[in-house]
Amino acid sequence: MRHPDFVAIKRLIPPRRLLGAVGWTPLTERSGEARGPCPIHSKGNKRSRVFAVSDRAWYCHKCKTGGDSIDLAAILYNLAARDAAIRLCEIVGLELPTVDHATLFP
Ligand SMILES: [Zn+2]
Repeated sequence: MRHPDFVAIKRLIPPRRLLGAVGWTPLTERSGEARGPCPIHSKGNKRSRVFAVSDRAWYCHKCKTGGDSIDLAAILYNLAARDAAIRLCEIVGLELPTVDHATLFP
């Protein structure tokens, strides 16, 4: 049985790629960290900078939650990690990278 390759998916699709696909744009950007409104909780407040995203990770200082691109897709689309990984690949038009069950659980 084959499973989504979470490591490859996280490497190929950084959080910014997903955020761009859902129409998020940063208000500030410096030292590799972009900030802007939180796509999870503050859809109304366009001037908020509570949401921070770097190359591989994101964190919302109001939601007190963060993670990687798969975590973000899971929250935005209310999906389990496996389905979030699949959705993530669909959004950016990437063929789902998979691994054998044996590779995950040798
Ligand atoms: Zn938030």
